[in-house]
Amino acid sequence: MITFESWNELQDQVPDFPADSETKGALETLQWAYDTYGEKLVYACSFGIEGIVLIDLISKVKPDAEIVFLDTHYHFKETYETIEKVKARYPELNIRMQQPEMTIEEQAAEFGADLFASNPNKCCEIRKIIPLQKALAPSTAWISGLRREQSESRANTNYLNLDKRFEKIKVCPLIHWTWKEVWRYVTKHELDYNVLHDQGYPSIGCAPCTKPAFSMDDIRAGRWSGSGKTECGLHTTNP
Ligand code: SF4
Repeated sequence: MITFESWNELQDQVPDFPADSETKGALETLQWAYDTYGEKLVYACSFGIEGIVLIDLISKVKPDAEIVFLDTHYHFKETYETIEKVKARYPELNIRMQQPEMTIEEQAAEFGADLFASNPNKCCEIRKIIPLQKALAPSTAWISGLRREQSESRANTNYLNLDKRFEKIKVCPLIHWTWKEVWRYVTKHELDYNVLHDQGYPSIGCAPCTKPAFSMDDIRAGRWSGSGKTECGLHTTNP
């Protein structure tokens, strides 16, 4: 568990990651994080486009890294296909599918059908937050693909963050990357990615809660569209 005291101590030990390096500090942050936390570092990946970049960078630093996917059972088939392609390209990576405790049927029996529509926060809690809590339990730190540009709520994200919800260090190597830079990297390295990105989905989550977004001013506009919800709760301290 990370306490405020240990977080404050950590601030004195962390190098300044070079935001002007070739990877805008991402590779350097990952190298430091794996050197520091080793097996106690896990990447929770949604296999969106930032995830594709991060996996490629991680494979250069720790080819057998542990990667967790929160398998809500509501994902698009294209997302599962993307995971299979990634597994084939990086066979050494340890990619795990973290399951929720309830099947969709069990959840419907207890809370009613389509909880994602009647109470999306509860649905995210059951199918994302609690599973991530379990996945992170043995770890000290976790990696996330957050970028500052993604939304106002992410604009102050740092390379290292104190994650009060999960009581871990959250490592965010891509904070300075722009949308264009992410795609430039994917294209340059000919990486496989979720084909839904080519069909108007800049941000891809669970199928019932993800719609295409037509404004590049808000690339997360298609997530929980029209419900007022903007985050699943994994990246908010007080949802
Ligand atoms: Fe449920 Fe939607 Fe949250 Fe997925 S994104 S866990 S379907 S509410």
